[in-house]
Amino acid sequence: MSPQTAPKPMIDRSHHVGGSWHWQGFTQMAQYKKIVISEANGCWLTTDSGKRLFDGVASLWCNVHGHRHPKIDAAIRDQLDRVAHITTLGMSADVTEILASRIVEITPGDLSHVFFSSDGSSSVEAALKMALQYWHQRKDPRPKKTDYLALSLAYHGDTTGSVSLGGIKFFHQLFAPIVFTPVRGPLPCSYRLPDGVTPDAACDHYADEVESLLKQHHETLAAVVMEPLVQGAAGMITHPKGFLSRIRKLCDKYEVLLICDEVATGFGRTGRLFACNHESVTPDIMCLGKGLTGGYLPMAATVARPHVFDAFLAKTSESKQFFHGHTFGGNPLAAAAAIASIDLFTESNLVESIDAKASLLRSSLDPIQGHPHVGDIRGRSMMVGIELVQNRETKTAFDSADLFGQKVCQRATELGVWIRPLGDVVILMPPLIATDDDLKMVGKVVCQAIQEVVPSL
Ligand SMILES: *Cc1c(COP(=O)(O)O)cnc(C)c1O
Repeated sequence: MSPQTAPKPMIDRSHHVGGSWHWQGFTQMAQYKKIVISEANGCWLTTDSGKRLFDGVASLWCNVHGHRHPKIDAAIRDQLDRVAHITTLGMSADVTEILASRIVEITPGDLSHVFFSSDGSSSVEAALKMALQYWHQRKDPRPKKTDYLALSLAYHGDTTGSVSLGGIKFFHQLFAPIVFTPVRGPLPCSYRLPDGVTPDAACDHYADEVESLLKQHHETLAAVVMEPLVQGAAGMITHPKGFLSRIRKLCDKYEVLLICDEVATGFGRTGRLFACNHESVTPDIMCLGKGLTGGYLPMAATVARPHVFDAFLAKTSESKQFFHGHTFGGNPLAAAAAIASIDLFTESNLVESIDAKASLLRSSLDPIQGHPHVGDIRGRSMMVGIELVQNRETKTAFDSADLFGQKVCQRATELGVWIRPLGDVVILMPPLIATDDDLKMVGKVVCQAIQEVVPSL
């Protein structure tokens, strides 16, 4: 081929639409109107028919620096010229080594050893097994510690182990016959408080509830598993300030590991690099996913502190190595993307800029603040949930069959902003690099969609 010849397109994209061979997750295929994206740039997606859509949920909460960021693109291309994949069972790639050390540098406290997998659910699976095996074989073994405490409405992924922790009826109830049952903690919700509990007393109220469960069950509990600060998939349930640090202290007191699932909250979403930073908490095990590669490639990580890691060190013949490993864990292409993404964080003031952007997004929602069907606008920083309710005073929900959340998001998509609800909670999770103008536009469209779909009576 002469250098002047235009390269032949690698994939013939001329006749891809029509059928429904692709069975999509959490999507009712009988009613699904195909949206097919052919390219993207920054915060904007372009469909195959040329319509431009703002990526209002950051391609399911994971995009950080926008699509086709030149630095991340270049890092992946450069890695492609070296090697696309090798195993990390018994060997490793140079980029994966570098990434592990970068993750250790940026994660809180003495988190020090990084176990790689390919998605958030798997990072939680690894954490669960790690915690159990830790208690089984540490110096002073506690083999009875095989249970877990999870919060109400917990969401930690869709594989069977992570579903076991889950507490969302529609996602999890059906699978009860094939999963284990955790000790169920409270829902540390700041919007709907238990009778007689004031906002100031909420943190202690919920933490005391966890303490009484720990008192009762600590001898059999391997770990408390929680999303710090905000329970994303539960509908951006926002914990009272101080709850996370109270749980850290309780886990120390009752000798139970703390697993923080930062798959959604990690990498800047809450206005700090990690949600745990807000309350100076170092979990024993931290799960990372979504934003780890800037939202580019499937990669997740389970990060452990030295006391956890050390319990797995022994002679090979003693069979104490971690009995877990994923084929694509530590994949070099994903590692290259992740390093580039972390570089973009550490070389700029992106994290410092997030809160200001988030308050701009919040104030762009002012027109619906007093709307009779907007019950609550909540979340932390660039994780925003708008809960639609039938009655604002009593906080009574709409009948879920009315699908108001879905209808609002459909209208917003028609208006050029792609968003996806969780029930009647409208979720806004723009890429962190969204500009002030982008965010004002998103706010305006969402207000219009809500006012049209749920008119005040
Ligand atoms: C998305 C999510 C997961 C699951 O991650 P996948 O990559 O979809 O498997 C786990 N935990 C939390 C908190 C999440 O938001």
